[in-house]
Amino acid sequence: MRTVLTAERLWDGARLLDLPVVVAEDGRIASIFTRAERDLPGEARILDFPGAMLSPAFFDVHIHGAKGHDVMEATPEALDAMGGFLASRGTGSFLATTVTAPLDATLRSLAGLAKLLAQPPVEGQAQAIGIHLEGPFLSHLKRGVHPAAHLLAPEIGLFDRLFEAAEGRIRLMTLAPELPGAIELAAHATSRGVRVSLGHSNATAAETRAVIDAGAVSATHTFNAMRLLDHREPGILGTVLTDDSLFAELISDGIHVAPEMVKLWWRAKGPQRAILVTDAISATGMPDGQYWLGGQADGFAVEVAGGRATAGGVLAGSLLTLDRALTNFMEFTGAPLEEALRLLTANPAAMTGLGDRAGSVVVGQPASLVAMDRAGKLVGSVVNGQRAG
Ligand SMILES: [Zn+2]
Repeated sequence: MRTVLTAERLWDGARLLDLPVVVAEDGRIASIFTRAERDLPGEARILDFPGAMLSPAFFDVHIHGAKGHDVMEATPEALDAMGGFLASRGTGSFLATTVTAPLDATLRSLAGLAKLLAQPPVEGQAQAIGIHLEGPFLSHLKRGVHPAAHLLAPEIGLFDRLFEAAEGRIRLMTLAPELPGAIELAAHATSRGVRVSLGHSNATAAETRAVIDAGAVSATHTFNAMRLLDHREPGILGTVLTDDSLFAELISDGIHVAPEMVKLWWRAKGPQRAILVTDAISATGMPDGQYWLGGQADGFAVEVAGGRATAGGVLAGSLLTLDRALTNFMEFTGAPLEEALRLLTANPAAMTGLGDRAGSVVVGQPASLVAMDRAGKLVGSVVNGQRAG
C-alpha cells in the first residue's frame, strides 16, 4: 500500500522543505521530494495537510505508561494499548521507562520487555525502541515516589544482571551521581552503550562533574527530584544548566516546572541540548481515579485528580502527552515551531544514539510523521505508515 503525505512545509530533522511530498510504502519512507520537482505519484492514498508543517513523529525517552497500562506489566496488551494511544498524539517511538520496584520484579519486567522490543513495528502504533532504567540507583533524599525500600547502591555486577535480563536493550539509565560507586557504574554502563542520565539526586557540583567526566550525557526531568539551585554550591542543577555538552529533559506540563523556569532551562540548554519528555503514567488518556505506577502487581497506588497524579501527596509522574508538551513549551518560551520540534525529535535521537530509528524523516526509515499548525497544535499523525490521529 502506497501512502503520500503532502503539506505546506516539512522539517525533516535537519532542514526545512517547502511543499513537500513524502511517499510511504509498506510502512517505510520510499521517497521525499517537493511539488516543484515532481507531480504526485498515481495510485496512492493521499493524506493532505494543507497549511501544516510535517515533522518526524515524536520520540519520548521518559514514559512509564498510558491508557491504563504501565510498561512494567511487560505484556503485548500493555504495549499495544500504549502504542495506539501515543501514536494518536504524535509519538512514534519511546523508551519504555521502569520505576524502582523489587529487584526480581524489575528483572522480570526487563526480560518481558526485551522480548516485546524484538518484535517488528506495528502500523499505526508507537513503538518502544529501548528501555530507560529509572531506578534503583537513585538518592534516598530525592527519590520522589520511587519506593525507598527498593533503592540500591550502584554496583557493576547488579547493573550487568539488569542489562542481561533486558538482553542489552537498556538505552538510558538514570543515576544519582553522589552515590558511592556511581562513577564506576557510569563508566561501565557507558562502555556497554547505555546513556547515563543524572537525576533523582542531591549531588554537589563536584560530584556531578565527576560522573559527567565518567560518561554521563543527559539529565533526568531537570528541576524535579534535584537538589535546589544555590549560588555558592551550584549542585547538580547548576551543573546541568551550564554544561553545554549535556542534554537535559524537562516535563512541560505547567505543573512540574513553572513557566519561568522552563524559560530559564530553554535559555540555558538551547535548541541543541533541550529534550521534552512526558514522564507519563498509566492514567494518561484516562479519567480521574486510582491507578498504579509500576504495574498493579509490584507497583504502588497513585491518585489522579484535576490533572495531577500523586502518591502520598508527592507528584507521581504526569498525565502529559508530547503534543501538549510542545504547545505548552512554545507558549511558555515563545520558541518558534521549527526550533521547538528538535526537542521531541532530533535531540532525543542524538542523545540516545537511536537516530537510525527515530527523530528524522529519511528514506528507508519507518514512515512516522506528525502534522502541526503554526502554533504547534497537532492536526494529524501517521505512525509506521498508517494514519493514527
Ligand atoms: Zn519517571
